[in-house]
Amino acid sequence: MSATIIDGKALAAKVREEAAAEVAEFGHVGLATVLVGDDPASDVYIRGKQKAAQAAGIDARDLRLPADTPESELLDVLAGLNADDGVDGILVQLPLPSHLSEANAIEAIDPAKDVDGIHPMNAGRLYLGRPALVPCTPLGIMRMLAEYEVEVAGARAVVVGRSNIVGKPVAHLLLQANATVTICHSRTVDLERHTLDADILVAAVGRLHVIGAEMVKAGATVIDVGMNRTDEGLFGDVDPGAAERAAYLTPVPGGVGPMTIAMVLKNTVTAARARRPV
Ligand code: NAP
Repeated sequence: MSATIIDGKALAAKVREEAAAEVAEFGHVGLATVLVGDDPASDVYIRGKQKAAQAAGIDARDLRLPADTPESELLDVLAGLNADDGVDGILVQLPLPSHLSEANAIEAIDPAKDVDGIHPMNAGRLYLGRPALVPCTPLGIMRMLAEYEVEVAGARAVVVGRSNIVGKPVAHLLLQANATVTICHSRTVDLERHTLDADILVAAVGRLHVIGAEMVKAGATVIDVGMNRTDEGLFGDVDPGAAERAAYLTPVPGGVGPMTIAMVLKNTVTAARARRPV
């Protein structure tokens, strides 16, 4: 048996078209990205989001601050964006330089404009199962499961990784969709015992092929969030040999990554609609 490869690139193109149609219908939708410093990987992410937003007709502002920007200045910039009615979504690219507090920056964003879904207000609302802006990667994962008609209700879902941006929110979304959810992390004893039980396995670790093919249950749906850059290219957390056991598998690249960017656009439209109901 060989897994159906979940085509994140094609699905992302569809989501981006949907977002563009919604922007056209809604009128003006504004997004501001804030990058502090010149980390090359962050620059690539920001340029990707800017390009996608512009292609969808979103008014995208690309704010760049020097690496030594004092915290007070960053907070002033965020306060200005909060007050600006033309801005529906604000993204602060993480990680920030070490002298800046990420928690302070995140909490300075108006929760109604927090299109990364990481403000404590949005994280709390997700926990309570109330409507919220949800982080883009988990949102993209749920859309992939829906599109490929993967049964989530009643499924055993195992999420490997417990970050605030991927692991925890995707676990909550799976729980909301009535999966039975287990969260694993670096201190989990006998990881394989858990992963072998997973009908849906989400790997969000950031370690090359930490999930071996033998750790995947036959017929499972495997979502590989990992992005591990090597001299040979970009690879995921899941050994590609898992395709011989899984029913569905997301590739790296071309799986979760493009969906994350597409969901930034969706979230920006969601934020615009919630802030300015017509
Ligand atoms: P993170 O904050 O570094 O979290 C990694 C998680 O993995 C932690 O919870 C950690 O456990 C756990 N972990 C580490 N080693 C482990 C092991 N040997 N066994 C089991 N769990 C282990 O990372 P993140 O931000 O969630 O990102 C995870 C990966 O996804 C990275 O490769 C990142 O680049 C990628 N990513 C991709 C996208 C995309 O759009 N494709 C978006 C976001 C992230 P502890 O909590 O115990 O330390």
